[in-house]
Formats: sequence, structure tokens, C-alpha cells
Amino acid sequence: MEVKLNTTDIISILYQMPSSILFKCPDLECIYASRGFEQDFGLRQSGAEATHTFLFFDLETKEIVPQCSLPFTLAEKGEEIAKHYRLQTDSRTMNCFIESDVITTPTGEWVVLQVKSNITSLLNENSKSSAVSKHIEFNQLLTNFSSKLITASVHELDGIIDQALAALGTFCDVDRCYIFEFSDEDESMSNTHEWVAAGVTPFIDELQDIPSSTLPFFMTHISNGLFKVDNVASLPKEAVAEKETFEEQRIFSVLCVRIMVDDIMYGFIGCDIIGSPYSWNAFDIEYLQRIGEMLGNTLQNLHNRKALQKAQTELLEANKQLERLANIDGLTGIANRRLFDSTLKRDVERCTEQMTTLSLLLIDVDFFKQYNDAYGHVAGDAALQKIADTLTNSCVGGDDLVARYGGEEFAVILPNTRLNELHAIAARIIRNVSYLDIRHQASDYDSKLTVSIGMACMEMNLSRQDAALHSSDGALSLVQQADKALYRAKASGRNCAKL
Ligand code: GH3
Ligand code: MG
Ligand code: MG
Repeated sequence: MEVKLNTTDIISILYQMPSSILFKCPDLECIYASRGFEQDFGLRQSGAEATHTFLFFDLETKEIVPQCSLPFTLAEKGEEIAKHYRLQTDSRTMNCFIESDVITTPTGEWVVLQVKSNITSLLNENSKSSAVSKHIEFNQLLTNFSSKLITASVHELDGIIDQALAALGTFCDVDRCYIFEFSDEDESMSNTHEWVAAGVTPFIDELQDIPSSTLPFFMTHISNGLFKVDNVASLPKEAVAEKETFEEQRIFSVLCVRIMVDDIMYGFIGCDIIGSPYSWNAFDIEYLQRIGEMLGNTLQNLHNRKALQKAQTELLEANKQLERLANIDGLTGIANRRLFDSTLKRDVERCTEQMTTLSLLLIDVDFFKQYNDAYGHVAGDAALQKIADTLTNSCVGGDDLVARYGGEEFAVILPNTRLNELHAIAARIIRNVSYLDIRHQASDYDSKLTVSIGMACMEMNLSRQDAALHSSDGALSLVQQADKALYRAKASGRNCAKL
């Protein structure tokens, strides 16, 4: 009697396969893995019916492969696959070579993917010759990067270090490769460069200024040159902090090698494997050591330059700050007399040269002596601050400069401002000061604090030669003009602007 196999039978037969395969029955979404696959990827042996989640990443773009281009989808459409992917399971992520096959069974056509991870392919090949060719490949990689570093300009160094980490990470098929730098006296460590495989979370931003005292077990080992953990689960008791840190990030295996520069420990280079333990071998250690040696001087060089750049930037910033302070009036925060003088001189020269108009306002607070006498100097200071703010808000031209000229006198330089506009601005200032509504019982005006304004305007319709003569004492004469006008404003009863 013929026994007819059903879907469940086929799943259990394929599950028993010692080779690493993934398979999918037709018309169903579930993907099953063989026992061989579970072994390779460090997945729990969970029986034929167990389904797992898989993510396929494109090796070049590091992007997740979309549904329509997944190996199963393509194979079901009749396309043959033979391609490298990065495959993520619940346990770990590895680079794999995937080949598709379609087999005919009594329940229809099944797609089977042969999955060769780098680890399995190395085990299956003639181990001696593959080790030799791997060694040659690594030396080639090292030579390439050394020559890149020799010819690179300073700005390219960071990029080349990142490329070297990526090449190392891909070559050793790990999940993360990184460089840490120790601070002076090795008190803390910071992650300076990091490469992660597709689907792996980068940590560089969180791993800055980590106090070395929090990882004593790691520090003891790395100071002696090597920190090697095949399986984080079997770390000894004294490594409780390290164990916790690695487990939080699902790191199972770690290998770090010290980087020395001029007999001083600069930092370390390391790599992680996520999701399954791995026995690091002598080659892995040697590769890491040699990349570390190659990068050591470059890293130190880069560190020195960055420190120098930082110091320079700080110095420039401090100078700028000093320059700002030297030009600012301490009470009101607006430009002081020093900045007023230099700006007026420069603006007169420029307007003379370009034959454009330049205006000036001198503003004096009315009866301010009485104000101080009546309300005290502290209230007087506060009133001056309010008036300074109002002046700044009343003059909105991009090139205008509002300054404290001295005592209770202010000045405004207004480039490219003609007489009619000047009248309007002066009127606006008088109105805005009145809106401040600062009580002043001794004042004639509504018992409020007011200002008087002297206006001056330098209209440039002279010939260039006259203009040159004019500019030599242009600034002084403009101030004198405004000062006389201010006197007229005071004489005509205050709280007004005069030309
Ligand atoms: P006028 O209307 O003619 O301008 O009368 P005035 O009282 O304002 O004129 P005067 O120049 O005689 O007085 C100016 C006063 O401004 C004298 C001084 O005490 C006061 N003053 C100058 N600088 C400051 C300051 O920084 N804070 C305070 N509170 N008062 C100041
Ligand atoms: Mg005055
Ligand atoms: Mg005054």
C-alpha cells in the first residue's frame, strides 16, 4: 500500500537535514529551518514545527531586502538565486551565501534555500589552504590601507580609519568593530570610530567618557594587551559589571586588543559578536593586533591635531568674547562709546566713498538729574536700560547702530537714511519712550520721562574730490551738527526732535 506524505511529514524530513537550509511550503507564509541551520546560527533546537523570524539585508546598502526581492519570493517566481546576504535570526546575524532550489514533493513545489555562512564554508573547505588564502587576503587588506594612510591628507584620515574597520569587520564576519581612546591617566575611555554590520545598532554616541573604574576586570586585561571572551555567559564573578554591559547589548563574544603608541597605551581596537558564542582563534587576535599597530600612529596624530584645533577654537572664541565685551556698555548691553566712534568713522568713510546718505540722532533724557534726585540712582539706571531697549526696538534697519554716547545720552547711526525717514524714526522714538510710561513727577510732560533728539543728516551730492575732503572730519562735524540740533530741541521745550 502506498503511503502518502503530507506537509507535516515533509517538514520533519527536511528539518532532520544536517546541512543548513531554510524551506518554505507552497501557499503558506511560514519559513522553517533545518537542524543544521539552527546549529550554525546558535538557535535553540526547537523541533520541526518551530518557525523563526528572519531578516535579509543587502550587503552593500545594508538595507533590509524588501518582500518583493526576498530569495523566497524570487525563487517562487522561478528565478534562481546564488547570492551573498546578511541574514539575521533571533540569535545572531551572519554573512551567508544563499542558493535556491525548488524541489517537487507530493504536496507541491517547495523552495529550499541552501545557506552557507562564512563559518560553515571555512569548516567545509580544506582548512589548511583556506587559512593560507585568508592570510594572504588579510595582508593584502593591510597593505592597501597602509598605503592609503601614507598618502592621505589629514581630513581623509577619519574616513580611512572607518573604512579599515569596515574591511576588518567584514573580513572577520563580526557584528561590530570599534576603536576606543583612553583619556590621560587612563581614567576614562571614549569610542572614536565604529563600524556595524547590517541590522546591528551602533553605540558610539552612548560610549563616550566611560569611567575606567566601572570596568575593572576589562582594564586589568586590556592593560596586559588582550581582552578575550569567547562566551560572555562564562565570565567570572569579578567581571559582573562587564557581563551586565555585554548582556544588555546581547553581545556573546568580545575580542579587544590594546593599541600602543610610543610605549604608552593609546586605547584599544575590538570586535563583538551578537547572539552566539564564538571561539576567537590566534588568527583573529593577530589580525586585530596588526590593524591596531597600523592605526596607532595615525590615531595619535589625529588626536593631537584635534586637541590643537579645539584649543585654537576656544582661544578664538575667547578673543571674540573679549572683543564683544570691549564694545558693549555694561549697564544697558548696547554698543558703547568706543564702538560708536569706530562705527561712525567707518560709516562716514563708506558713505563718502559710495556717495550715499548717512544720518545721526543724539538723544538726551529730559530732566534726568531731577529723576535721580526724586527716585534714586538705582531707579535711574533701570530707566536708562528701558530707554536703551526701546531705542533698539525703534531702529530696525540692519545697519543701524544704537549706542550709549555717555551718561544719559544715546546716539543712533543710520546709514542710507534720508531726512524724511529720519524725521519719522525720531518721532517713533519719542512716541515709544512715552509709551514706556516711566513716572517722573518733576517733569513738565504728563509727569512722564521723555527724551529730546538732535538730528543730523549727511546728504552726499558732492563731487568725489570734495567728498574726500569732507570725510576727514565728517564724523566730528556730523556729531557737532546733531549736538547743536539737540540744544535747539532742549531750548524749544524738550520732548521733541530738531534738525
Ligand atoms: P536736561 O533735560 O537738560 O537734559 O536735564 P538733565 O537733568 O537730564 O541734564 P544733566 O546733564 O544736568 O543731568 C544728567 C544727569 O544724568 C546727571 C547724572 O546724575 C545722570 N546720569 C548720568 N549717567 C547716569 C547713570 O549711569 N545712571 C544714573 N542713574 N544717572 C546718570
Ligand atoms: Mg545730558
Ligand atoms: Mg538730560
